[in-house]
Amino acid sequence: MIDFDYRRATSLDDAIRSAGASSKFIAGGTTLVDLMKLDVERPAHLVDINALGEDSNLASVTELPGGGLRLGALARMSDVAWDPRVRDGYPVVSESLLLAASGQVRNMATIAGNIMQRTRCWYFRDTAMPCNKREPGSGCSALAGLNRIHAVLGTSDKCIATHPSDLAVALVALDANVIARSSAGERTVPIRDFHVLPEQHPEREHALRPGELITAIDLPPLSFAKRSLYLKVRDRASFAFALASAAVAVDLQGGVIRAARVALGGVGTKPWRSTEAERALVGRKANAATFRAAADAALAGAKPRKDNAFKVRLATRTLERALTQVTS
Ligand SMILES: Cc1cc2nc3c(=O)[nH]c(=O)nc-3n(C[C@H](O)[C@H](O)[C@H](O)COP(=O)(O)OP(=O)(O)OC[C@H]3O[C@@H](n4cnc5c(N)ncnc54)[C@H](O)[C@@H]3O)c2cc1C
Ligand code: SF4
Repeated sequence: MIDFDYRRATSLDDAIRSAGASSKFIAGGTTLVDLMKLDVERPAHLVDINALGEDSNLASVTELPGGGLRLGALARMSDVAWDPRVRDGYPVVSESLLLAASGQVRNMATIAGNIMQRTRCWYFRDTAMPCNKREPGSGCSALAGLNRIHAVLGTSDKCIATHPSDLAVALVALDANVIARSSAGERTVPIRDFHVLPEQHPEREHALRPGELITAIDLPPLSFAKRSLYLKVRDRASFAFALASAAVAVDLQGGVIRAARVALGGVGTKPWRSTEAERALVGRKANAATFRAAADAALAGAKPRKDNAFKVRLATRTLERALTQVTS
């Protein structure tokens, strides 16, 4: 039986005051409720934050004074995806959202909930199986089990689960910032440092402190983000998580790449920024040989397992195709 108390927060201060180490915020509920039904998540207190969007910017997209956009934590995935400022200035963000989940889920699910979602590793969601992320020290069933959907980058001997968010991959490519609020005040966490590697503690997934609330995600001004895209490869055309994906943005002048941003999804234990690929692109002509060298650099550190070796080639090709498309 699920046993917890529920409170609908009436203001930001009220939400922060109500939150503690044994509580969880609930926004769209599209992933937290599933995990509670599976008995994977067992919060003692649920703090519903949906009312906070009613009279604040927490549910909208606003322009930042120095350029860039602020995505309110409670903005729904579909609203952000179709916002003309996001579509024109940051197509990689819009596409990462539209290629995720389904229309119905996107209408409910929030931006903050998306980057906070937990892995889709099937052993994590099955309480009959050992899983270090769910029960620290119990073991990792995926290491010697079925690991076709698992990570090849950033793995450890404790966990090889991928991070499932598409949006987070786009945000990592753009150097977005997560704005978080607690009773100690507001702070900014670069998205690159927000998700953490599993190493010896796969139960630790992000840099938020207990009771800390995400209020927004800031997209910095980046002129060449207009030339960006998100490419996702999966088992079926919709309603499926990435086997491999690429978020790319390129500053192209006279056929030469002046600056580039590259991140991969579906292959890393966290949304995977590849500065190695970026270095292999900058100053080079935009052609197939350059793209191949960048993709090889991005996957150079891959550690494939029994069932997921195909992901190395798949991610290489996905990145090559994304770079070809974005520079065409
Ligand atoms: C069938 C299905 C398919 C999907 N496919 C994809 C996909 O292909 N790609 C993809 O990226 N996603 C996919 N998703 C995941 C979906 O995007 C997430 O479920 C959704 O974004 C979570 O948002 P939410 O508002 O419903 O979060 P909730 O379920 O309400 O919360 C999720 C987590 O975030 C925390 N949280 C929420 N808001 C805050 C906040 N402001 N501050 C701090 N913590 C917070 C909660 O405490 C909880 O731990 C899929 C989901 C489903 C159900
Ligand atoms: S890969 Fe991670 S989430 Fe999956 S079973 Fe192993 S420890 Fe658990």
